[in-house]
Amino acid sequence: MHRFLTTPESVKNGIVTFGKDDAKHMIKVLRHKRGDIVLAFDGSGRQYEVELVEAEKDRVCGKIIKSCRPDTEPKTKVILFQGIPKADKMEWIVQKTVELGIWKIVPVITQFSVVSINDRKSSNRTERWNRISKEACKQSGRVVIPEVTPPVPFEEALNYWNKIASEESGDSYPAVFCHEKERKNCLKELFKCYNIKCIKTIGVFIGPEGGFSDKEVQLATDCHIKPVSLGKRILRTETASIAVLSAIMYETGELRA
Ligand code: SAH
Repeated sequence: MHRFLTTPESVKNGIVTFGKDDAKHMIKVLRHKRGDIVLAFDGSGRQYEVELVEAEKDRVCGKIIKSCRPDTEPKTKVILFQGIPKADKMEWIVQKTVELGIWKIVPVITQFSVVSINDRKSSNRTERWNRISKEACKQSGRVVIPEVTPPVPFEEALNYWNKIASEESGDSYPAVFCHEKERKNCLKELFKCYNIKCIKTIGVFIGPEGGFSDKEVQLATDCHIKPVSLGKRILRTETASIAVLSAIMYETGELRA
């Protein structure tokens, strides 16, 4: 069954009205007709089975015949603070981490980032990253679209995390920064200190190609963000992000059917 992303505003009184581009695609390419059933999701977690009641190339809408919340979203939210690598690598990281179940991606400008981004370029890139996130969502069957925030400097990323972690509640908010020079701590040991069910959100910091500077390592440690090793081999930044996210998804029981 074909699946389309709509906006929450396009769902009203049990009727879904599809956007112009989707309408054209539905009629001209997919040859949908009145009476056909399609799936629609609005990015907030709900998915609808929709029977088309109007199917013209400039207007397609349908009535909701079933509504559900598919169980595709991880219970534990993972926020990736990604030191910005070169363009194509960042896009790859967005796509793959969305498939694996990331909750949010915060691109981070660090001391050794090789990219410098001015304001206009930054907003273009943020838009592009969010488009990639949407596409990855559609493709992977997810119903919530992870946000990719505009790039922030390292210190701001730490503040951002501190605000989340200081929320008053009995839940846990562990954060780690992956550091190839760490000789003691690893994810396996860290997880032993937590009751997985009580972990609400996990923050993960990954350095860019050039790694973290000593100052950044110190700042993160001062914020009680724990350094962890991902093994004795040095991974490329994009490998590190995928490896750590896969390990977290495994630990939190998300790699189950
Ligand atoms: N420039 C550094 C490597 C940076 S790798 C060097 O050549 O020595 C890029 C990022 O991936 C690092 O900042 C870290 O966050 C992560 N990373 C890569 N290998 C890792 C490992 N073995 N353990 C923990 N983190 C690692």
